Amino acid sequence: MANEWETALLKTVDLIQPCHNPECGEKWYVFDNTQTPRCPFCGTSHKGTLPVLDLYFKYDDEIWKPENHRLMVYHNQYLFKWHVSRKVIRNESLTAEDKKPVGYFTFYQDKWVLVNQTLTSMKDLTEQKEVPPNSMVELTEGKKILLSNEEGGRIIYVTMANQ
Ligand SMILES: [Zn+2]
Repeated sequence: MANEWETALLKTVDLIQPCHNPECGEKWYVFDNTQTPRCPFCGTSHKGTLPVLDLYFKYDDEIWKPENHRLMVYHNQYLFKWHVSRKVIRNESLTAEDKKPVGYFTFYQDKWVLVNQTLTSMKDLTEQKEVPPNSMVELTEGKKILLSNEEGGRIIYVTMANQ
C-alpha cells in the first residue's frame, strides 16, 4: 500500500507545470488534463503549446501498452532513467548514477525539443531516425519516440495541448 501510494504521488509530480504568473503564490500546479490548462490558484492560463507525454512499454514484440504514466514538459525539464526504463524504479535506493538526468526538454527556436544526453538507443519511430546522444528530436503531435531498445525500455507518445 505504501509503495502504491508513493508511486501515485511520484506520477503526480510528473504532472506539475510552472505557473506563468510571476506573482503567483504557488508557482507550480498539477496539470488538469484539459486542452486549455490554467493555474487553479491564480487563474492564469498556460501560454503557448504544451507537450503531454504518455509512456508506453513493450509488452510483446510489436505490442505497446500504456503505463498510465504521463510526463508534462516544461522549459528545461529533465528526463530521467525512471522514465526511460521499467527496470529503474524511482525510490530511495537509486544509485547516484541513476539519479543523473539522461536528457532534457527545452523550447528552442519556437519548437519543443527533447535533447538526448546519454541514451544510446533512442529513436524517432515516426521519422524512423536514430537520435544519438547530443542530438535532439522535435516534439510534435502524434510523435512516437523510443527511449531505449533494451528490455524494459519505453516509448513516449506526444500530444500537444493548448494548441
Ligand atoms: Zn498561478
